[in-house]
Amino acid sequence: MALLGEETELPYERPPLSKDYLAGAKARDDFRFRSADFYAERGIELIPGERVKTVDPEARSVRCASGRTITFGELVWTAGGRARRLPGAHAIRTLADVDALKDELASASRVLIVGGGWIGLEAAAAIVKQGKKVVLAEREERLLARCSGRALSDFLAARHRAEGVDIRFGGPSPDPADFDLVIAGIGIEPEAGPLLAAGAEGGDGVAVDELGRTSLPHVWAAGDVALHCNPFGPDRPIRVESVQHATDQAACLAKAIAGDPRPYAAMPWFWSNQFDLKLQTVGLSHDHDEELVRGDPASGRFSILYRRAGKVIALDCVNMVRDYVQGRLLIERGTRVAPDRLTDPDLPLKTLVD
Ligand SMILES: Cc1cc2nc3c(=O)[nH]c(=O)nc-3n(C[C@H](O)[C@H](O)[C@H](O)COP(=O)(O)OP(=O)(O)OC[C@H]3O[C@@H](n4cnc5c(N)ncnc54)[C@H](O)[C@@H]3O)c2cc1C
Repeated sequence: MALLGEETELPYERPPLSKDYLAGAKARDDFRFRSADFYAERGIELIPGERVKTVDPEARSVRCASGRTITFGELVWTAGGRARRLPGAHAIRTLADVDALKDELASASRVLIVGGGWIGLEAAAAIVKQGKKVVLAEREERLLARCSGRALSDFLAARHRAEGVDIRFGGPSPDPADFDLVIAGIGIEPEAGPLLAAGAEGGDGVAVDELGRTSLPHVWAAGDVALHCNPFGPDRPIRVESVQHATDQAACLAKAIAGDPRPYAAMPWFWSNQFDLKLQTVGLSHDHDEELVRGDPASGRFSILYRRAGKVIALDCVNMVRDYVQGRLLIERGTRVAPDRLTDPDLPLKTLVD
């Protein structure tokens, strides 16, 4: 078995890049998945620094940018995505990105962050705490417009402003020349090109079925790049960018390859840390038609329940671990509960489940 990747680092976790590593609270060796020995002891050959340019499903081989050709029995494509870049701006996707950013950040006093999604917000929190002047420009009229409801957007905007982040909505971005450092947190492009060029179905990602199979024989895909029908998602293929999804979908296809096929059915979850806020999401809120706030956002502890056709499909929880843990039962069971009961913080969510 071989694990091939374009980066030269031992595999590492990405979440600390925009959180503790950027804030200086973690060192680069603190978030590697495993030591080199771990892979060697299990017969996993690491092939770092190789970028696959083309895939030949007939010959069962990949060709790398270096000219090297590698054959496979089964190919698992977990190539994630590439950060969308803006000229002259830093991105936050890889350890190398953040090392380059930190080198310049040390002497910067005015920082512009373009994009008010999770990564832009986490970066803003980590950098404003270092005493820098931070402007965050979001082209929509609210934060997290792509993935969360209005109540969370408003709460986070107020909190970031209270911490000193200058948030600007809509309109053109401020002039980068007015800043010492610019960071773009404007999403990723899925790294699907080599598979699509080889004839795989897809578009915004590579299409996979419930076991992680692409339309090409002996080629599988999982994680950020995989366009799939999520059992907790809307009625159309989507990509999910989270650690939970990457690890659970990869485990699902690994079992299928090993002869134990079971459809992917893991409950989605996600987290983010900003200042002293522990944000936790369970379920997927796509296409919700109702947003209920449980608890008082002014207290800094509350949850938002998203419903579709009367059923709870997702929760965003802010410093509310109990709701996060119990809310998944509501999603799993599809229980219909009256809104006034769902929003009563004195009623534990688990007592509302059939
Ligand atoms: C800064 C940051 C913070 C995050 N925080 C959170 C969080 O708090 N919670 C959460 O749930 N999720 C978080 N995520 C998302 C999470 O890290 C991703 O969903 C997860 O890493 C996806 O894993 P993956 O294996 O699909 O792709 P990736 O992690 O992107 O791995 C893909 C690998 O493939 C390599 N590659 C790409 N193309 C090629 C090619 N052609 N040839 C060879 N190699 C290639 C890449 O270099 C990369 O090493 C965060 C992501 C980032 C960037």
